[in-house]
Amino acid sequence: MTERPERPAGPQPHHPETMAVGHGYDAAAAFGAIKPPIVLTSTFTYPTAGAAKEAHRTFFETASPDEAEYIYARLDHPNLRMVQERFAALDGAEACAAFSSGMAAISATLLATVRPGDTVVHTAPLYGGTLGLLTGLLAGLGVRSFAIPDALSPASIAETMGVAVTKGRLSVVLVESPANPTAGLADIRAVVGAANALGRSDHRPLVLVDNTFLGPFGQRPLEEGADLSVTSLTKYAGGHSDLLGGAVTGSAAAVVPVRRLRTSLGTHLDPFSCWMMLRSLETLPLRAERTARNAATVAAFLRDHPKVRDVTYLGFLPEGSAARAVFERQCRSAGSTFSFRIAGGEREAFAMLDRLRVIRMAVSLGGTETLICHSATTTHYSVAPEVRAAVGVDDSALRISIGIEHPDDLVADLDQALAAV
Ligand SMILES: *Cc1c(COP(=O)(O)O)cnc(C)c1O
Repeated sequence: MTERPERPAGPQPHHPETMAVGHGYDAAAAFGAIKPPIVLTSTFTYPTAGAAKEAHRTFFETASPDEAEYIYARLDHPNLRMVQERFAALDGAEACAAFSSGMAAISATLLATVRPGDTVVHTAPLYGGTLGLLTGLLAGLGVRSFAIPDALSPASIAETMGVAVTKGRLSVVLVESPANPTAGLADIRAVVGAANALGRSDHRPLVLVDNTFLGPFGQRPLEEGADLSVTSLTKYAGGHSDLLGGAVTGSAAAVVPVRRLRTSLGTHLDPFSCWMMLRSLETLPLRAERTARNAATVAAFLRDHPKVRDVTYLGFLPEGSAARAVFERQCRSAGSTFSFRIAGGEREAFAMLDRLRVIRMAVSLGGTETLICHSATTTHYSVAPEVRAAVGVDDSALRISIGIEHPDDLVADLDQALAAV
């Protein structure tokens, strides 16, 4: 391999769609190959003892570990750096840390930020894995969490944070918007405003947004003022249901401590998955656009179907509502994952699911194929019925993630399956 030429610093001159293709990789670094090699190695040779010392000093003691020569693949490796550079560019971020899963990214970010006795404020509902982390490991470390009753209301956000600060140092405000599986929205700017206001008299909490549902082409939390944005790359970013990954983006000052903890936890993204991610990111804008367009068609069909009670699709938020105002300001797309409730309960839902021929039954979302699941008996199996019902996940609720198939085939499949109900 030849030396990589210096990259010009400063703002990225190109559109995200252009940077999705090739940004972060320079063909001159690998024999002119148009696609990057997969660098399968656990360790890297030091040219001299002095270079070894310098690599360790840069990695462990400076604010820019990215400038260190490679040392050992758990610390950093070439494919990891390529993914991080590209995803940071797409998310409009200075820095990125890529992980072996979305949960690895969320866990490392929270563990790098909270200390025993702190408090955490969060939106509700939360992804099950995230909630489990708060109620399990973090609760065990004496970290108490407080849910915001209405994350569209600045008063409700400020009030919850006001309570949390009386119980301990409020270290993180965790926002999931749109929320899984309800597509409930939170006003990120209002959360940032409340965090800033608190920062004038007390410790300023870090604002962390889980942007998995919309991804960088549907919503950019950092532009709304969030400190860190976390994305499960397993979903839309990976996009083919064939890898697990996660990313945290933000300023270098906010990301570097999380990246350092990743070195201790050993949860970096491996070279092969990084390579697959680089390939996936090239088509993310195309997939995001097509899945969103298909979702609008399928959601409209379901809304008008007599056997469907309601649809949570973001494109249907009522004019004049607080949610609609936040949606229009904060989101560029309604995405392609939503829930709908059919007339009846578990029996009717199962009858419909078992007749589907094109749409596949599985958890997860954001792949090329359309996936559907009965939330109450799968993703929310271990959530108490009252808790589920409070967020609209009753026995008739189905979550669907629309893929890139022809929309007419998806509509026809749902139509024939609903005829069985
Ligand atoms: C799937 C998901 C996660 C976790 O991601 P993994 O890659 O499965 O660890 C986190 N948040 C949301 C909103 C998700 O949908």
